[in-house]
Amino acid sequence: MAPDYQTLLLAIGLAGFCLSATLFASWMSARVERFLLSWSIGIGCIVPAVAVYSLYIDQAGVAIGCLAFMLQFLGFAFIYGAAYRFRSGKRARRRIAVVFVACLAIALPPLAAGYDGIAFIALNLLIAGCLAATAWEYWRGRAEAPLPLTGIVVLYLLTAASFLLCAGVLLHDGRWVMGHAPDNWAENLNLIAAIMGITGIGAMSLALNQWRVAGNHRHAAMTDALTGLLNRRALFDRYGAFPVGEHQAAIAFDLDNFKAVNDRYGHAAGDAVLMVFADVLRDSCGTAACLARLGGEEFIVVLERTPPDRAQRIAERVREDFAAKLIPISSRSISCTVSAGIAFAGENGTSFDCLLSNADKALYMSKRNGRNRVSLAA
Ligand code: GH3
Ligand code: MG
Ligand code: MG
Repeated sequence: MAPDYQTLLLAIGLAGFCLSATLFASWMSARVERFLLSWSIGIGCIVPAVAVYSLYIDQAGVAIGCLAFMLQFLGFAFIYGAAYRFRSGKRARRRIAVVFVACLAIALPPLAAGYDGIAFIALNLLIAGCLAATAWEYWRGRAEAPLPLTGIVVLYLLTAASFLLCAGVLLHDGRWVMGHAPDNWAENLNLIAAIMGITGIGAMSLALNQWRVAGNHRHAAMTDALTGLLNRRALFDRYGAFPVGEHQAAIAFDLDNFKAVNDRYGHAAGDAVLMVFADVLRDSCGTAACLARLGGEEFIVVLERTPPDRAQRIAERVREDFAAKLIPISSRSISCTVSAGIAFAGENGTSFDCLLSNADKALYMSKRNGRNRVSLAA
């Protein structure tokens, strides 16, 4: 065997070790991202697999061959499991175990029986299958970030193709008993593909993970944690900087005597009421409306291109539906009402602040006139 081959193996071992350590460190800093751990273990198995295989090249033997096979299967099963977890968010333990055991059951018997040629064909085909399944998982999840995920899919498929090629050359040679590690041009190509795969996929996947984490943070910064509606910042980001368009309407809602709910039934009960109100908003306002919690028990609905009578119907529906809700609180049910004020931008437009302030004035009228009602701005 040419020394070049051992050098390439060493390069894979080093690249794998570095990537595995980086993945492990990333997992340590964000433990919810469990797929990072699976992946770190997967790549981590490839490192000793490469070392053991290097020994096998020098001195082929059944025991050491079995060990090299096992480590490789374990590694690729974990890499597949990490991809499954990355896409679905579900546990991958069963899948990893099934893939690992199936690979062992197929490839170890011929190796143990002395048919190492057949065993290496099986090894290459099975690893190509694992990599193709991994690529399939990323492909299914490509909507999240089409460009980097397609890049990852291509790299996995190229690596899989290089393993297929190794199997193809061995099949073509047709030597079922070899007594040594496979030694042909496809093997060299395979190692180069593996180095490219490990470094390229590693870099892209870590970037992808950062991108996902940043996206989650962005989403959290714009969302009200209790109700899941937009928060004040998101509302003003969306509308604050622009003059509002014609026929834009804002409805301000404020729950009635909400402090009394908190005082009588406790803060948790108050929270439950706020969540029910958010659900009523979602059910009544349609998908085109922008729903936000301004703070406390104050909410804003912004409607685009909405004639006044429609805005009024929506506000009335929210008021009626909410008043009719029986909200279960530990041993009893309570009900609550809401007041609303509606303002329109009108033909000449206005600023968003002005629109909200007009809606607020109308809301104040509803409160003064006895609550549980809807008022229109003058
Ligand atoms: P009004 O009908 O005039 O609006 O009376 P109100 O009692 O609803 O108004 P007030 O502004 O006096 O009370 C609002 C209360 O909302 C006071 C505050 O403790 C409560 N509150 C604000 N944020 C939250 C929250 O996140 N959860 C709960 N449970 N209560 C909240
Ligand atoms: Mg209030
Ligand atoms: Mg209130």
